[in-house]
Amino acid sequence: MTDFYAKLGVKTVINAADSYTMIGGSRMPAEVVEAMAQASRHFVPLDELQLRVSARIAELTRNEAAVVTNGAAAGLAVATAACMTGTDESLVRSLPFPGCLKNEVVIHRCQRNGFDMAITQTGAKLVEIGDVESTFAWQLESAIGERTACVMYFTSTQYSRGALPLEEVIRIADARGVPVVVDAAAQLPPVDNLWRLTQAGASLVIFSGGKTLCGPQSSGFIVGREALIAACRLHVGARISIGRPMKVGKEEMTGLLAAVERYVGLDHAAVKNRHEALVSSICSGLQSAGYDAERAYPGPTGQDYPLVKVDLSRTRFSPEKLATILRSGDPSILVALPWDKRYVVINPLHLREDEAAIVVSRMQEILASEA
Ligand SMILES: *Cc1c(COP(=O)(O)O)cnc(C)c1O
Repeated sequence: MTDFYAKLGVKTVINAADSYTMIGGSRMPAEVVEAMAQASRHFVPLDELQLRVSARIAELTRNEAAVVTNGAAAGLAVATAACMTGTDESLVRSLPFPGCLKNEVVIHRCQRNGFDMAITQTGAKLVEIGDVESTFAWQLESAIGERTACVMYFTSTQYSRGALPLEEVIRIADARGVPVVVDAAAQLPPVDNLWRLTQAGASLVIFSGGKTLCGPQSSGFIVGREALIAACRLHVGARISIGRPMKVGKEEMTGLLAAVERYVGLDHAAVKNRHEALVSSICSGLQSAGYDAERAYPGPTGQDYPLVKVDLSRTRFSPEKLATILRSGDPSILVALPWDKRYVVINPLHLREDEAAIVVSRMQEILASEA
């Protein structure tokens, strides 16, 4: 398959960084590809397929209900729209100029991020609470009113500093009958996040299909309460709604189902051991090459897996420079650059053993050439 990319003149990348959308999210295992291939050979009623696939995903993830979306960002738009309109068909048709009373989404200021547009494209207005350092319960309480469609919450540890704990948000919103929507796009592993957040009382929880789950890149799903999921269903699929440009194809639905089936059935202890072994061999390889490398934990958004953190402060190049050299080399290697500017980070999540060996030997060459 590299031939296909080569013919187009597009270079493939070794992913030592993360489930980055810009390099394709993840790789699909054979069973996912096969499910998509099988799905592609027939016509099928899309709404019926959506219902059956969703029911199976709900069962596999121990949730009351689920709906397949075209990615987690689409999940944000669909969940927001659902909280605004409920199952009222005329309101569904009114977006993005909501004829509905409920057109406000409460969000922590410290959790604002690039995916905000997925929320506001529905016509919803963001109502911010708190500041970048802290948020108080009374701020959430006074932000919630008759126009509140939902409270949006991002569980990534990137956004947890300064935010109210999810449990407190749920308690306050619940008491006012307002749903809490959680974006947990990349919050796997642990696998139990698939049910833990809804069990904790979140009304809707959004996952990306194309990240840790290794499903189709343009897939994702929402799990949660049946009544709200029923409203979500009015905003996905081939029917006319604000979600129509985010339609989910039959191949994505079946591929996602195969991916979820595979993921929940994995030997997660073995996966964890593989990550630890990979991290430990990368660390020792880099250390013997003269790098200041050590195991770090948890994953970049708080997931349950380790990373390799390489401190470059005693070398003559900056993390950006090393990352650029790796990226422009052959093969091209992408490493992560965390907010702390002293480090590059190597992430084992999408790295094969043979690729890890290439990363180590390339970094060894680069350090030797700089010395
Ligand atoms: C990746 C990500 C998304 C978007 O996921 P897609 O499946 O690529 O649409 C949304 N929210 C968060 C927090 C993410 O990390």
